Amino acid sequence: MQAETSEILGENHVTGVRFKDGLKIPADLVVMAVGIRPNIELAKKTGLYCERGIIVNDTLQTYDPRIYAVGECVQHRNKQYGLVAPLFEQAKVCANHLANLGYSLYQGSVTSTKLKVTGIDLFSAGDFRGNENTDELVFQDPSQGIYKKLVIEDNRIKGAVLYGDTLDGAWYFQLMRDSVDISGQRDRLLFGQAHLGNSGHGETNAQQRGEERMTA
Ligand SMILES: Cc1cc2nc3c(=O)[nH]c(=O)nc-3n(C[C@H](O)[C@H](O)[C@H](O)COP(=O)(O)OP(=O)(O)OC[C@H]3O[C@@H](n4cnc5c(N)ncnc54)[C@H](O)[C@@H]3O)c2cc1C
Repeated sequence: MQAETSEILGENHVTGVRFKDGLKIPADLVVMAVGIRPNIELAKKTGLYCERGIIVNDTLQTYDPRIYAVGECVQHRNKQYGLVAPLFEQAKVCANHLANLGYSLYQGSVTSTKLKVTGIDLFSAGDFRGNENTDELVFQDPSQGIYKKLVIEDNRIKGAVLYGDTLDGAWYFQLMRDSVDISGQRDRLLFGQAHLGNSGHGETNAQQRGEERMTA
């Protein structure tokens, strides 16, 4: 929005917000939806090529071949990450190259996250907005405070948003990462893993598989 907040106005209750350019907007509620901005001043000063972050290739090498970068400060394939899991994946690849092994490539990460606020169960993963090539499976139970949405493309999960009931988040995420064909489970998918019954498990159910594992 090209706007920068300079002050939240009001004594005991918020009455408005003032922006850097002097504009004042009256308000009795302020919601802060803040993103991240990489700290790349040092890299810029050294002359490293940066856009929104320090640009790296699939080996995490910057435009200066002597310098590698990982973490929130990097921009890889036009993406930046603000969670630790992708950064661990980057570090693993980077370490591989620093150790002169040189075979590992970082091709980007699929991320999932859970909001850690007491009383608000929220999970999201992948592309949860979708586009003209995707379908949406949606379950909504407003009186119970439950909303679930899966974004599907070519019978594969591309993204998920779960609110109120996030129990199956890890399972959807696994199906997404493994690019599992969900056509056989599509009608029950939103009810969760516990309701799959015998379908989708290769003619066995979860209990049987557990028993098989124990026998093995
Ligand atoms: C409140 C909060 C909660 C979060 N919760 C989660 C969560 O639940 N799950 C999750 O996956 N992620 C979470 N994150 C994000 C996660 O913490 C970051 O993505 C991760 O720490 C980034 O790691 P990094 O190594 O890239 O950067 P950082 O951890 O920020 O490390 C950068 C280091 O560089 C140092 N530094 C900066 N400038 C210089 C300089 N000029 N010279 C020398 N040193 C310098 C800094 O002091 C810092 O120690 C959270 C972040 C915040 C702020």
